[in-house]
Amino acid sequence: MHANIMAAKIVSDAIKSSLGPKGMDKMLVDNFGDITITNDGATMLKEMDIQHPAAKMMVEISKTQDDEVGDGTTSVVMLAGELLSKAEDLVEKKVHPTVIIDGYRKAASEALDVLEEIGIPVDPKNKDYLRSIAVTSMATKLVSGQAEHLAKIAVDAILQVAEEKDGKHDVDLDYVKLEKKIGESISDTNLIKGLVIDKEVVHSGMPKTVKDAKIGLLDAALEIEKTEFDSKLRIESPEEIRAFLDQEEQTFRGLVDKVKKAGINVLFCQKGIDDTVQHFLAREGVMAARRVKKSDMEALARATGAKIVTNVDELNTADSGYAKKVEEKKIADNKMIFVEDCRNPRAVSILIRGGTERITDETERSLHDALSVVKDVIVKPKILAGGGAPEIEVARRIRKFAGTVSGKESLAIKAFADAIETIPSTLAENAGMDPIDALSELQSRHEKGELWAGIDAEAGKVTDMKSQKVYEPMSIKTQMIKSASEAASMILKIDDVIASSKMRPPPKGGPGEEYGGGGMPPMPQ
Ligand code: ADP
Ligand code: MG
Repeated sequence: MHANIMAAKIVSDAIKSSLGPKGMDKMLVDNFGDITITNDGATMLKEMDIQHPAAKMMVEISKTQDDEVGDGTTSVVMLAGELLSKAEDLVEKKVHPTVIIDGYRKAASEALDVLEEIGIPVDPKNKDYLRSIAVTSMATKLVSGQAEHLAKIAVDAILQVAEEKDGKHDVDLDYVKLEKKIGESISDTNLIKGLVIDKEVVHSGMPKTVKDAKIGLLDAALEIEKTEFDSKLRIESPEEIRAFLDQEEQTFRGLVDKVKKAGINVLFCQKGIDDTVQHFLAREGVMAARRVKKSDMEALARATGAKIVTNVDELNTADSGYAKKVEEKKIADNKMIFVEDCRNPRAVSILIRGGTERITDETERSLHDALSVVKDVIVKPKILAGGGAPEIEVARRIRKFAGTVSGKESLAIKAFADAIETIPSTLAENAGMDPIDALSELQSRHEKGELWAGIDAEAGKVTDMKSQKVYEPMSIKTQMIKSASEAASMILKIDDVIASSKMRPPPKGGPGEEYGGGGMPPMPQ
């Protein structure tokens, strides 16, 4: 068990210094020498080459946190690491792991109650709160300088895609398409009501703008299949050549007629389009793009209401989609196709701009966090002020609760309280404050009833975080507590890691290699 805790702690220590607005960024270099610069816990862990099973579990919880709520990925790993470290101290004091697990479970459930109680209910349509929440999630990122601008985009995007049903809101993040294009700067990132497809119109003779677009989505090539025996085709006279070409042209015309007959004036094709077909389509005034990504085809289907067909014969009016305008625009040195005001008004895109690939990548990750936290609040409209204030309050009340529990279990409950304070103390440390002084000031101010006293990382002092408008969704913290305590309990339950992979038969060895490197000896014949 000791080795498992060690491994888990190493992971949490590795990312600790990146927590909060004053946290450091990490530069990750992969096996190919590619560099990622990020401050995003989930991304760092994803890129690290982690082998130990207990350490891998830490990576999993950050992924779960990311999938469920989209932010708080560093915090959840830190909390789990700290819970394990405190558990180890208790084990040394002869507290049995099952007692610790029970104590942690009670403490976690108490923590959730406290959060529910102190959470601030908000109107899910109040843009001010939503914007502050998005800004907070990005304040800790490289893009913090542009947080206001990106937050506005994130809020507008989510409000556009949110669906209201029986007084509840639901948000499908798939409706927000993120498209990156290097050039200009982050401040030129903008929201498009519709989709942006990173393809150009395939033929120069085609229209560059189509109004009232009837959109066809085709997952088949508009080409004549090349026979495998190309070379055997022997054409001997000019008449034969003509006949052959005529026949080919007829086939191509036939394909284009089918597109026309379906009433389609914009065609997105997932495969190739033959030059001649392009030419005929252009003559018919049809705009077309080829080799469109599968994910883009799916997004187009969702946004325009079109059905993707796998054969030209299946193209028809009923299955075609609609957008008020489809237009090719020049972005940086490239052309992109904008499909605007789609049949489904909920589809939006964010066109991310930035000077280098690393900037657009980190902007994308930051927007992902911002979109997620705004979604979290719309789905569950309750928020907390941040800067470690909720963690201090939870710890304070859990300690009180521990007093009502008898036996060694209360030690585990107190340990849980200590563990959760690692968040404010690390925030303080990363902001250049003395973590011990900061913690005791926070504790005494909370004792006096200052519920939202937290670490103001910018000013490097303890402040009322509500007045700073540093807000976070409630679900980030509840998910953090649930995942971290579950993971810690699971690791505590494990006696030892049995390396099951070593039991597998080894790959076939070369000549002369009897057992293939440490594997099982072959069965006697
Ligand atoms: P995570 O991956 O866990 O989200 P972050 O690096 O994003 O880690 O840091 C999140 C923490 O930073 C939260 O506890 C949040 O309250 C805190 N935080 C965000 N903005 C501020 C701020 N302006 N001042 C103090 N703390 C902040
Ligand atoms: Mg964050």
